[in-house]
Amino acid sequence: MKRTEPFEFYQPASLQEASRLLKENGPGGRFLAGGTDLVIAMKEKGLVPKYIVDLKRISGLSGIREQSDGSITIGALTTMREIETSPLITKKYSFLSQSAAEVGSIQIRNRATVGGNMANATPSADGAPALIVLNATAKIVGANGDRTVPLEEFFRGPGQTVMTSDEILIELTIPKTGPRLVGEYIKFSPREMMDLAYVGVAVAYNLGASDKKCEGVRIVLGAVAPTPLRAKRAEAALEGQTLTETLAEKVGQIAAEEAKPISDVRSSADYRRAMVGAMTKRALLNAAAGPAKSWVERRERRY
Ligand SMILES: Cc1cc2nc3c(=O)[nH]c(=O)nc-3n(C[C@H](O)[C@H](O)[C@H](O)COP(=O)(O)OP(=O)(O)OC[C@H]3O[C@@H](n4cnc5c(N)ncnc54)[C@H](O)[C@@H]3O)c2cc1C
Repeated sequence: MKRTEPFEFYQPASLQEASRLLKENGPGGRFLAGGTDLVIAMKEKGLVPKYIVDLKRISGLSGIREQSDGSITIGALTTMREIETSPLITKKYSFLSQSAAEVGSIQIRNRATVGGNMANATPSADGAPALIVLNATAKIVGANGDRTVPLEEFFRGPGQTVMTSDEILIELTIPKTGPRLVGEYIKFSPREMMDLAYVGVAVAYNLGASDKKCEGVRIVLGAVAPTPLRAKRAEAALEGQTLTETLAEKVGQIAAEEAKPISDVRSSADYRRAMVGAMTKRALLNAAAGPAKSWVERRERRY
């Protein structure tokens, strides 16, 4: 790791001040949240920001809150560890907690923020698929005011989002979901820990109490396209149907056809595609079976 080049460092106390700093200093600046992507980019990948604006002194940007309308708001500076261990998230959306638990190591998760995970826009970002299946929206603030975009439309390509360089992601909101929602996130990476996803699959659907029919099916694939990808044909194949192992396999095959993987140091495109099929099938069946009761059970269900 090399030493970083010198840079100006600002610690604003409000969003207004942060926006003003970006306006005054012009292009070439970066926001800093947990730094687990940014510092690596500076020390190992040759990124030389002209200045850095630390977001951590701005109050109100972290925390998980249930709103009166049943939606859940997650501040952009909330750490992956907070999402992993939040009683509210664990109870309502255990697969979202699980997606946070998949990030790096406990040391990384204590620093890594969900906003940084989204803003960095790595195709393999573990937080994105589970939030997208939950229909999450992203609230963005800039000098020209604020706007809210569906997270599904937030990503533009590797390292690229709809945000302009002076905009700040301030929170993610999960709209109210029905009582029969089930879901799962599987990160497939043979090393299991401290590795990026070869394939990530998140699924969510409402499971009929007596007829076991699947409604409102959403399937999102990570690490197999330039951005997280909704497998819409696969979703349609399951919509309104009763889930069986045979159907889960067929839906997995359709999702594999929809994936657009590349070959890289981790995996060939063909292997990734095959794993999309297998992991989608498994995620659909796991979701119906309910959250695993232990780490061991979860591991055995995955492989
Ligand atoms: C050893 C190691 C293992 C890792 N393993 C995983 C893994 O398994 N899965 C995974 O998904 N990731 C992994 N990561 C990547 C990283 O930890 C996550 O992407 C993390 O969530 C980034 O958050 P951060 O707060 O550290 O972001 P930072 O590094 O602070 O910022 C990342 C980028 O986003 C911008 N940014 C940050 N917050 C905001 C905001 N609120 N508004 C606008 N822009 C913003 C920054 O300017 C910067 O460009 C790993 C990293 C390391 C070092």
